[in-house]
Amino acid sequence: MHLDQTWQRVLESHDYPPAISAVLGQLMAATALLASTIKDETSLKAEIRGSGPLTLAAIECNSRGEMRALARWDGPLGNIASGGLSALVGNGLLVMTTEPPKGERYQGIVSLEGDTIATVLERYFRDSEQLPTRLWLSADEQRATGLLLQQIPGEREEDSWERLQVLSDTVTHQELLELPREQLLHRLYHQEELKMFASKGHQFNCGCSRERVGQMLISLGRQEVEETLEQEGEVKVDCEFCNQVYLFDEQGIARLFGDQGGDILH
Ligand SMILES: [Zn+2]
Repeated sequence: MHLDQTWQRVLESHDYPPAISAVLGQLMAATALLASTIKDETSLKAEIRGSGPLTLAAIECNSRGEMRALARWDGPLGNIASGGLSALVGNGLLVMTTEPPKGERYQGIVSLEGDTIATVLERYFRDSEQLPTRLWLSADEQRATGLLLQQIPGEREEDSWERLQVLSDTVTHQELLELPREQLLHRLYHQEELKMFASKGHQFNCGCSRERVGQMLISLGRQEVEETLEQEGEVKVDCEFCNQVYLFDEQGIARLFGDQGGDILH
């Protein structure tokens, strides 16, 4: 999986330090890969919740391949990048949420023990007794990229599983980042019988809207929103994912709470 423009759009909206963007990019590539393995119409969210300096890395991918991503961190990072994932997140959790259009959403949680996003995710799959899964992930300023190896349900050929892991383990970060997919597959698995499927594209789409922000304000309650209005003269909501700013003046807030017909779009 190569994410180029989708990943670059994430980096355009935020000035992330390299240690933060490396984790965010790897998590984004992993989420795109894992989303492609789940049922149609189901969206996938992956969230790292850390005790700092990295406190949040969140990725969302819906069934149309639309993605958005966000990271939050606290204070200077120094040379923490060399300390691996644990130095960056402290005591943390990885939360994976799948949400079908109808029915219950499912949430799986694993502690963030491991030096890389890939090892944490591999343990998640092992602990939750899902299909045996391996991941190789890499991200730089241009590209977030990953390779996923997963057993097909019902097909347990231990020999080929071992062999494919050994072959895949020879992949380098540079190859992941730079080689076109066909070349990489040939380089790793040229002695295997391969079948290529059409790949589904991904694009950045935040999905935020004035209507959704209005609904969020309504859920906060009229009193809290009007207090902000009184203090600030207007209510300003920034979307953290895409930096879009939504402004509501006194009239806008009144309409929001149904005083003038409840049309929140104008
Ligand atoms: Zn947005």
